[in-house]
Amino acid sequence: MEGKDSRSPLDLTQGVRLEEFPDGEPVLCDGGGESVVVVRRGDELFATGASCSHYGGPLAKGVVVGDTIRCPWHHACFDLRTGLAVGAPAIDPIPAYQLEQMGGLVRLGQPKDSPKSDAPRTSPSSVVIVGAGAAGTACAWMLRQEGYQGPILLIGDEAPGPVDRPNLSKDYLAGEAPEEWLPLRTPESLAQNGIELMLGDEVRACDVPTKRVELASGKQISYGALVLATGASPRRLSIVGAEKALTLRTLADTRAIIAKAEGARQAVVIGASFIGLEVAASLRKRGLEVRVVGPEEVPLARILGPELGRFVQNLHEAQGVRFHLGRSPGRITEEAVVLDDGTTLAAQLVVMGVGVRPRTGLAEAMALEVDDGVVVDENLQTSAANVYAAGDIARLPYGGESIRIEHWVVAERHGQAIARNILGKGRPFREPPFFWSRHYDLSIACVGNLRGWDRVDLHGALDDRRAFAAYRKDGRVRAVAAIGMGKLALRAEELLARGEQEELETLLATAR
Ligand code: FAD
Repeated sequence: MEGKDSRSPLDLTQGVRLEEFPDGEPVLCDGGGESVVVVRRGDELFATGASCSHYGGPLAKGVVVGDTIRCPWHHACFDLRTGLAVGAPAIDPIPAYQLEQMGGLVRLGQPKDSPKSDAPRTSPSSVVIVGAGAAGTACAWMLRQEGYQGPILLIGDEAPGPVDRPNLSKDYLAGEAPEEWLPLRTPESLAQNGIELMLGDEVRACDVPTKRVELASGKQISYGALVLATGASPRRLSIVGAEKALTLRTLADTRAIIAKAEGARQAVVIGASFIGLEVAASLRKRGLEVRVVGPEEVPLARILGPELGRFVQNLHEAQGVRFHLGRSPGRITEEAVVLDDGTTLAAQLVVMGVGVRPRTGLAEAMALEVDDGVVVDENLQTSAANVYAAGDIARLPYGGESIRIEHWVVAERHGQAIARNILGKGRPFREPPFFWSRHYDLSIACVGNLRGWDRVDLHGALDDRRAFAAYRKDGRVRAVAAIGMGKLALRAEELLARGEQEELETLLATAR
């Protein structure tokens, strides 16, 4: 099903016959110096830029859903008519072009003008967003994209403002990405978009009846709508010497790890889940000896299943990472981590990646409903009117269950959905969770709810980097993990969103 897109781009400057564009399939074209994707949908033709504005993924290898095109790398979603980014992780638009048809041939026309969105149906006096991370920033940006003209205040207690957090444990920590790549939005670009970024102050309290927030500096600010997007903070094991370990959430945390890594020869990473493994890989790239300690027998097995978990473990071992599994740290000293079986692992750097705790303190103080997360409905609205919650703190209904998800793209999509809801343009949020994880040259895309499955079936060839796993509960597919099968992951995501089990089973059966 994948891999048919290796033909050379069609030349739109010479003209391309209409029949060359199969309905609903993106086709890579040469627009005379720039790569363009053309999509035919029935009688309509669309042309957009060919690279995703997030990380430059190849949109011609993506999937068309309705009037949108989705990137195979990290599932960003663009409006085919306008090029606007309508689904995270993309925030910036891609170009959209006119197409001209004459004598049965299609040629590239002029770039389209910047699109104007429909006027908001509702418009609060102001929107105050607490937390300038993934969800908060995406929300602020989408409010403007959707035509909101009122004041937007984005309050964050984390310097230097919104950053591409996933990069902090990957390329940046490995020393392979410069710091200039990290800002999610610069303060300047936010200001140009009329978004006031207030940094270095913390929201201490919110009063729902009077619609006011109070900052640590003593400032009081009123809101029309309030968005809580306060994220999560790293957990620490309560063992002797735990304070000697570094944790990773912010750019400052990564800088601290890099600074310590520079003078270190041996590192111990406590925690063998995604962040721990990514940190291990990055520190290996910096030349440190790295050991990973975790209580599980196989890393990631609880989430991805034992086969995929072991494959990931092997990749890390092939790069020189050594695992101490089925073990817990007993204590941390100045120069070592002592395990529960007495093994002493010398370490000048210890990083603890043992999960996070949602930052729900503010919501609790506001007497909102909180249950391991701020409880929201399908519109991401909390138990208080005009107060929304997004990202790592939000607990929302999904497929008859209640879930709280700690993924980058999910947080951004929450923020975007809230923006539309605030402006009266929303619809219930039913998107399946999506995340990606990278280990050296292996990238895994996961869609759906990976908790609570009772059966996993792995198909394909992991060694060829072309495989997928289907996760079922009571016989129903609830999640899919894909390696080298970007289209499969995108299609599975869409079918999960629509609850189309039969079509999903057919898709998976065809892909085997
Ligand atoms: P955050 O992005 O954490 O933003 C919350 C912000 O609110 C923070 O800046 C915080 O300081 C601020 N804040 C909190 N309380 C207050 C207050 N009272 N006043 C003012 N400001 C406040 N997910 C993936 O899907 N894929 C990945 O590859 C991946 N990699 C990751 C790598 C690292 C190193 C980390 C730490 C996380 C990674 N994640 C990844 C998880 C992802 O980053 C989070 O799920 C996401 O950032 C959650 O977004 P959020 O907006 O809820 O919270």
